Amino acid sequence: MKTRAILCHQRGDRTVQCVLCAHRCRIVEDAFGFCGVRQNIGGTLFTHVYGYPIALQDDPIEKKPLYHFLPGSRSFSIATVGCNFQCGFCQNWQISQTNTRGGHTAASRKILPEEVVNLARERGCQNIAYTYTEPTVFFEYARDIGVLARRAGLKNLFVTNGYLTGEARDELVPFLDAANVDLKSFRDEYYREICRGRLEPVLETIRDLHRRGIWVEVTTLIVPGENDSDGELGDIASFLVSVSPDIPWHISAFHPDYRFTVHKRTPAEKILRAQEIGHERGLRFIYPGNISGSADTRCPVCGRRVIRRSGFTAEAVALARGGVCGQCGARLNGVWEE
Ligand code: SF4
Repeated sequence: MKTRAILCHQRGDRTVQCVLCAHRCRIVEDAFGFCGVRQNIGGTLFTHVYGYPIALQDDPIEKKPLYHFLPGSRSFSIATVGCNFQCGFCQNWQISQTNTRGGHTAASRKILPEEVVNLARERGCQNIAYTYTEPTVFFEYARDIGVLARRAGLKNLFVTNGYLTGEARDELVPFLDAANVDLKSFRDEYYREICRGRLEPVLETIRDLHRRGIWVEVTTLIVPGENDSDGELGDIASFLVSVSPDIPWHISAFHPDYRFTVHKRTPAEKILRAQEIGHERGLRFIYPGNISGSADTRCPVCGRRVIRRSGFTAEAVALARGGVCGQCGARLNGVWEE
């Protein structure tokens, strides 16, 4: 069952233009957009994934990852098929690179927004995370869930590639609380060749969400030989500092997957080197991912460990309510339990 899409313009020749993401696809009758889940039927744009989740599960928020937003809380996590990128290294490609062109949503049944919110509450989750695939492409579903979740006292989190338009962010901000945005590279050609997108719209999403008071963290997957030069890592870190030195930067090790099977795993030394570069450029919170080693949070003023992490668990060991360091009284930026 299809649902009428938002954020699109009808053209006189029965073509539609979708303005949900920065591809801004012009779609002729019967065709799909680049994401493979939005179709022009008779001059009107429809989404085929509304109400059809491919994944629904209860995760720790640390798995998103979000480290400075209600640590230790549970996120009811939801995805449909589809993506507006085609990253060669995608680690969820089995669901992100599936489309609805053959009429398949891959979901076992339709689940309406009210039911999603009820399930989240029954499972004791404090947040709903739109994740695993790109939530932009199931925007209408996410929005309807998000509005109901807000009313029920739950927070909303996007784990996103950031390839939204300004028009989409205007619709998103009223119900969004936090986002983890992928910044995959600082080179436009990387985005064009490996992801089939562009860099600038992603930078603008990071700037804009932060400016509008959404809690933002950023993740970079470091792929050996592709985006791991000191210069590029420094450019990413400097950009983040220009937005805010308090943006947590998650630097994750790559493992071979999808079309990137000849690449080697990212060595731990490369992740540690990225961490060093980030600190040199002025970032205050940098977290290695997918390697063994510390992902604890330390007070940037006195250096005291304030949150200890092990796997996906987090324990406040010296963080008072409101995010205050128990040793020196500095306030750490983030959204903490009051
Ligand atoms: S969401 Fe993006 S990729 Fe999909 S149809 Fe709209 S503009 Fe195209």
